[in-house]
Amino acid sequence: MDGRDKYLQPNSVVIRREKRSLDRKIKTKEDYWKECLTPEEYRVTRENGTEPAFTGRYWNLHDQGTYKCVCCGDDLFDSNAKFDSGSGWPSFYEPVSEANLETNVDRTFGMVRVEVTCHNCGAHLGHVFEDGPEPTGLRYCINSAALKFKGRGEQ
Ligand SMILES: [Zn+2]
Repeated sequence: MDGRDKYLQPNSVVIRREKRSLDRKIKTKEDYWKECLTPEEYRVTRENGTEPAFTGRYWNLHDQGTYKCVCCGDDLFDSNAKFDSGSGWPSFYEPVSEANLETNVDRTFGMVRVEVTCHNCGAHLGHVFEDGPEPTGLRYCINSAALKFKGRGEQ
């Protein structure tokens, strides 16, 4: 190796180029959700999954408080509207505000159902059925994995 080659240091040029392309890699929304959510929360909210009945963290919770979107933190349901549907999923007869939800017709699995998503971030939450109790007659059947419960008075 003569003096000139020593100072060119071809390897360091390659390393610098790789680092630059890493810095420039733009984080996708999917990357962001994967970092913030557990694998189960991601599967349910971003891939339209359903948790198995009687396995979620909230189907049998009776505490007073608010159920928020696990992805964006928007208020979705209040414990006052929660009822025991026997389905194994948290069930509510009304949302905190209809403006916080979106509904879409879901024709997967050979059924026609109405899917419920978070208006703010698009998270899949569950489905709404018309066999709920008074006063609305609706049953919002929601995955625990899509919710984050905050008790009354909790910060
Ligand atoms: Zn959300």
